[in-house]
Amino acid sequence: MGLRKKYKKMIRSIIPDDYYLLVKGFCPVCNSESRFFSNNSWLRESLHCDNCRSISRERALMLEIEKHVPQWRGLRIHESSPNGGALSTKLKNECCNYTASQYYPSHVFGDMVGEFRNEDLERQSFADGTFDLVITQDVLEHVYDPQSAFKEICRTLADGGMHIFTVPIENKHAETQVWAEKGDDGSPIFLFYPEYHGNPIDENGSPVTMHWGYDIVNFIQAATNMDTTVITARNARCGIEGDVEVFVSIKKEV
Ligand SMILES: [Zn+2]
Repeated sequence: MGLRKKYKKMIRSIIPDDYYLLVKGFCPVCNSESRFFSNNSWLRESLHCDNCRSISRERALMLEIEKHVPQWRGLRIHESSPNGGALSTKLKNECCNYTASQYYPSHVFGDMVGEFRNEDLERQSFADGTFDLVITQDVLEHVYDPQSAFKEICRTLADGGMHIFTVPIENKHAETQVWAEKGDDGSPIFLFYPEYHGNPIDENGSPVTMHWGYDIVNFIQAATNMDTTVITARNARCGIEGDVEVFVSIKKEV
C-alpha cells in the first residue's frame, strides 16, 4: 500500500464523518432544480441545497405542508422557535399572517421582543382557535412539559387546524424517555448524560428533555383532541435522506 493511500485510510478510520454526498434534484423550499451536498453522514441535518441552504428535514416538512395545506400562504400560521433557516424564512416571507414566537423567560409573555412574540409553548397567551397551522421544527424534544405544550398547540388551533412538525425520534420503536427534568432554578437535571442542541437565541444551547419514540403519536392522542399521522420521509428526488419523520396532527372538530 502506497504511503498516500495508507494515510488516507488512516484518516478515514479516525474521522468517522469523513463523508461526501452530492445529489442533484428538486428543492421544494426554493422551488428550483438544485444540488444537495453533505460532508457528514448525519443527513437529517445536512444535504444543504445549493440555492437556499435548506436541509433534508426542512424539505421533508415543506413537502408535507404543500401536501396537506397548499393554501398555507393565506392561513394564520404560528411557528414556535424558528431557527432562521430556509423554511422559516420562506414561511415568514410568503405567508401574509405569520407569527413567530420565541421563549424569553426574563421578559413579559405576550409582548413582542424584537420581531418575535414572547411565548412559553407550555402556557401560551394566544386566544383559543387563533391559528390554522402551527409549525415546530425540532422544538418538542426541548420542552419540560410536553403534555402542556401539545395541549396548548391544540387549544390555539381552530377546529380542523393542523400542527405539522419535525422532532428527532431517538428511540424509534422503544418507549419514549424523559431525558431531563426542570430543576428549581430552571436549569436541567439530566436523568442520563447531558445533551444540548444549538439554539439561535441562546449560546448555551437548548437542553434535550425528551427522547421520543414513535409512541409520541399515542402521547399526543392522550393529551389532546388531535389525530396524528407519522410520515417516514425519504425522497431521493428532493434530497430527503437520513432519519427524517414528519408529523401531521389534525384538531378534530367537536
Ligand atoms: Zn433550495
